[in-house]
Amino acid sequence: MTGTTKELLLGCIADDFTGATDLANNLVRGGMRVVQTIGVPAGPLDRAADAVVVALKSRTIAAADAVRQSLDALRWLRSQGARQIYFKYCSTFDSTAQGNIGPVTEALMDALGTGFTIATPAFPDNQRTVFKGYLFVGDVPLHESGMRDHPLTPMTDANLVRVLQAQCRRKVGLIDYRAVAAGAQAIAARIAELRSSGCAIAVVDAIGNDDLLRLGPALKDMALVTAGSGVAIGLPRNFGIQASPGAAQLPPAGGAQAVLSGSCSVATHRQVRAFIAAGRPGFVVDPLRVAAGEDVPAQALAWAAPLLAQGPVLVYSTAQPQAVKDVQERLGVDEAGALVERTLAKIARGLVALGVRQLALAGGETSGACVQALGVTQMQIGPQIDPGVPWCYATSGGGHGLHLALKSGNFGAEDFFAKAFRMLA
Ligand code: ADP
Repeated sequence: MTGTTKELLLGCIADDFTGATDLANNLVRGGMRVVQTIGVPAGPLDRAADAVVVALKSRTIAAADAVRQSLDALRWLRSQGARQIYFKYCSTFDSTAQGNIGPVTEALMDALGTGFTIATPAFPDNQRTVFKGYLFVGDVPLHESGMRDHPLTPMTDANLVRVLQAQCRRKVGLIDYRAVAAGAQAIAARIAELRSSGCAIAVVDAIGNDDLLRLGPALKDMALVTAGSGVAIGLPRNFGIQASPGAAQLPPAGGAQAVLSGSCSVATHRQVRAFIAAGRPGFVVDPLRVAAGEDVPAQALAWAAPLLAQGPVLVYSTAQPQAVKDVQERLGVDEAGALVERTLAKIARGLVALGVRQLALAGGETSGACVQALGVTQMQIGPQIDPGVPWCYATSGGGHGLHLALKSGNFGAEDFFAKAFRMLA
């Protein structure tokens, strides 16, 4: 136990699933005991926590729906006593001209009756820096990064004050790097200045992780913080919580081990190749065979059953861009995605029925589909495997204790899967 109180301190609302885990991971590393919920829970938590992250899937849905879901989450978090609210979005500020970052921020401000908040996706250790209000992804401004061509949320302007202003009624300003570098007092003075000039939301510069740690104390009394996952590194200390390995402690792991990968991202390709090159067995899920009516889940499970006693197995649909394109042309983009997700989710259930209790999932959508199929509603967040990806512990709908790793496509080192299971051993 790291918290000195049983009361919920920080209540977080995340606009997507693996992003929620990324935030939870940073809070755990800061010493908080964290539970992530899948959607807004119907009742109280299973276990005590210092922070809860409610994972929504509200990044690209209609703004009005995102607002409604976020307000539902807020109501639940406040009913649990949350002292501060954190709205978490993507570190590349993924949004459309209509939102949803601006509309959700303003709806939360209205509901909380608060006159000022910040907005910054900065996380310098993860190559997301904000300078003079401009977001850089690695060495290039946002609009020159891959985000320029994102299918749902193309980001064509790196100036976050402008981007956010286009989504907000309230006036948006900037707390620039000089104030941040000078520390909490200078930040407070800048906030007072912005407020007196009519600004209600401020983008905050951060060019090094130290900036986020300096920002932390200045946010102590803010009812609402909006940010990527980076700002979270400066918050636990505001509640008198220090980093401690106890916060990441999960129940001991047992059972068989498996990886399910539906991610076709570059990093996942490398991880799949490395796992197989290390001599571990892999089963390919071919979407066209599923579409042709073959019972691929049954085949995968029959393949896995005799292997599980000898170590982790891998079931994957991870394929090269041309192969994915071919499948999409045959089945349609949405149907191809949904068909693969349904298939992997069914295999996840089957693997748990075969005794798998340690399951690594690769892919944001894939993770969401599998976790839902397993009937998981709450996850306790444990130790970090690689940046942004912790082990989690959950109870499945069938009552099994499961260790789960939910890896967003491009996260994780090449030996991620082997490393993940080694950590639990
Ligand atoms: P990432 O985090 O890498 O974006 P996701 O799981 O979020 O991974 O998204 C990958 C999407 O691609 C999912 O909808 C998945 O069902 C789909 N998919 C996976 N493998 C294939 C394949 N071989 N052909 C077509 N679509 C696929």
